[in-house]
Amino acid sequence: MFKKTGIATLEMIKEKFPSEERRNKGPYAIFECFQEIPCNPCHTSCRIKAVESIEEDINNIPDVNHDKCTGCSMCVSACPGLACFVIDETYSEDKFSLKIPYEFLPLPKEGDVVSALDREGNTVGTAEVLKVQDHERFDHTNVITLALSKEFIYSVRNIKVDGE
Ligand code: SF4
Ligand code: SF4
Repeated sequence: MFKKTGIATLEMIKEKFPSEERRNKGPYAIFECFQEIPCNPCHTSCRIKAVESIEEDINNIPDVNHDKCTGCSMCVSACPGLACFVIDETYSEDKFSLKIPYEFLPLPKEGDVVSALDREGNTVGTAEVLKVQDHERFDHTNVITLALSKEFIYSVRNIKVDGE
């Protein structure tokens, strides 16, 4: 199922994405969480109860009902596994926005151009920082909003800030 490194394959990632129609409507959550573990902050943080599979059983793999999800990003900050992201493909013609959980210091600043990393930590391009919401906003992990070329939609999930 996983690569030898424990990193999810492209096929596994693509299975988490909603329909093309939903992707064209606005922001949606992606949970890169693949194992049955007793964990539920993604569910408890979601005010509209879009994570229905965990409502049934805390051990279930979280599954977002994308018809309900508004892309609010509360789950991005709440997930202890840093496995929740919010993608908005309607950001522009050639770029998407990506909300990521971020626990390193220093935090980037809005307007910064930072290194865009894939799941293995390789630098694959650059990202523009659109918004920085620190943990006081959500009471959990900082959330960084990025603008990225659409070629990175399945690959980039982290950043490197100069000075780290
Ligand atoms: S982005 Fe908001 S609405 Fe969507 S699953 Fe996360 S908490 Fe729920
Ligand atoms: S909170 Fe995060 S790690 Fe826990 S079940 Fe939800 S997505 Fe997985």
